[in-house]
Amino acid sequence: MALDELSPDLAPFARDLVDAAGVAGLQPRITSTVRTRSQQGRLYRGYLANPGRAYPVAPPGYSAHEYGEAFDLVVTPMEALADVGYTWQQWGGGWNPDDAVHFELPGASFRAKQRGIRNEQKSPFLVELASSIPFGIPISLVLDFLGIPVSARKNVTPEQEEYLRTLAAQSGLK
Ligand SMILES: [Zn+2]
Repeated sequence: MALDELSPDLAPFARDLVDAAGVAGLQPRITSTVRTRSQQGRLYRGYLANPGRAYPVAPPGYSAHEYGEAFDLVVTPMEALADVGYTWQQWGGGWNPDDAVHFELPGASFRAKQRGIRNEQKSPFLVELASSIPFGIPISLVLDFLGIPVSARKNVTPEQEEYLRTLAAQSGLK
């Protein structure tokens, strides 16, 4: 996982954080840096299929990883992520205990969400697939069609549901 691929605003600080965690004996490992849209899409579908087993995953187009503004880091013990996150925050970075492995430029997730919304009109994810569904099909059947199991649906966040509804609307579905 090359930190060099990250935004130049982020890469040097990411290296410093890894170094600091190493000096502290926490055996830091970078698990994700930049992701392509299709990589984010695969990750997102996997997350929807197993929502209880993973850290939160943004829909494709909506992740700070796609814009080089975030990286994921694990340490040993994992509980020490809180200290690493605190350090990152002290340096001015963005970190949230709900996604403790995720370190980003300040405001990166917000910016990614805005970019995702803007880009949605240009290259909607899975619209081609969804557009093969006949008119008048409810969102539950779109989820069926996309292979998202019933057990996962109660864990679909409002943001994710909104995204799926947007997809359906753009595809002429109700
Ligand atoms: Zn992340």
